[in-house]
Amino acid sequence: MRSARKAIVVAAVAALAAIAGIAGAADHRGLDIYWIDVEGGAATLIVTPAGESVLVDAGWPLPRDADRIATVATQEAGIRRIDHLVTTHWHIDHVGGVPGLAARLPVGHFHDHGFPSGTAPDVDPTLKAAYLQTTHGRSTVLHPGDEIALTRAPGTPEISLRVLAADGLVAGEAVGAPQTRPCAAQPAHPPINDDTSDNFRSLGFRLSYGAFDFLDLGDLTWNVEHKLACPKNLVGVVDVYQVTHHGADNSNNPALLAAAAPTVAVIDNGARKGGTAAVYRWLRNTPSVKDVFQLHRNVQTPAADNAPPEQVANDDEACRGEWIRLGVDRDAKRYTVEVHGKGTKRTYAVK
Ligand SMILES: [Zn+2]
Repeated sequence: MRSARKAIVVAAVAALAAIAGIAGAADHRGLDIYWIDVEGGAATLIVTPAGESVLVDAGWPLPRDADRIATVATQEAGIRRIDHLVTTHWHIDHVGGVPGLAARLPVGHFHDHGFPSGTAPDVDPTLKAAYLQTTHGRSTVLHPGDEIALTRAPGTPEISLRVLAADGLVAGEAVGAPQTRPCAAQPAHPPINDDTSDNFRSLGFRLSYGAFDFLDLGDLTWNVEHKLACPKNLVGVVDVYQVTHHGADNSNNPALLAAAAPTVAVIDNGARKGGTAAVYRWLRNTPSVKDVFQLHRNVQTPAADNAPPEQVANDDEACRGEWIRLGVDRDAKRYTVEVHGKGTKRTYAVK
């Protein structure tokens, strides 16, 4: 009798401890960002302290990419749905994976920059039809200054996701404003020819969690980037920069790099796409940048133009699709970048 009662008490205490353990883990959740390897496409998964998820782009229309995203989401991030799916623009390496991903995980809301009026040579009608079928035509078109409302978990710093650029415009510009804007303050990086692709229309945003700031501008190109930096810095100083356009050198205007002044840069490149030597050097020449991380080694450039191997998630073209994770502490004072598969972990102070 006595031992039976003791056993019940022990079991009850164990159960309470288990409940407390689960609650404790949730209570200490910070902000997580995963760069999922979609081999030269984009798929950035954000999970907030409240457990809300934002997926920014969904990779190529390949089962490989939807599978990789769903695997990281469910097995690493521990989520069962995507609350917000942001498509930065209509190119195949960003929107292509949306139907496949939506077939694997429920999606709450879709967000994009809107389809350009008329026909655009690089907006594939097949991809557009597949997107509209997936969203049932219900997506929110975001404009500069708009926010995606995120829930603030009790006892945590404020969290916000604010759109900085969309449809070729930055805050304060009217529809139809040109891609370039003269800027006497910063003539060092002159405009290039207007971008006629959908890249310049990319939706770009800043995610803020307390003092921590993350910048993701999709595949935004040189001239619109310059409008974000000059004459006024519309981005503000950030901690972490997703290197724009996979590290292509018609993006990542050094004027913008200087304005945003990130501490950490993450390139979502492929083995033979992006991660250019020019952009790697611009990043290294940006005084604020402490470390550059890459999803892939650029197999076409020498070691000196790639990040050190421990900061590169995938060394070879035939790869397992290793990801990079960033965890911001719950109090938003520090964050840690982890290169999965390499065991690399680096911690930085939030600015
Ligand atoms: Zn792209």
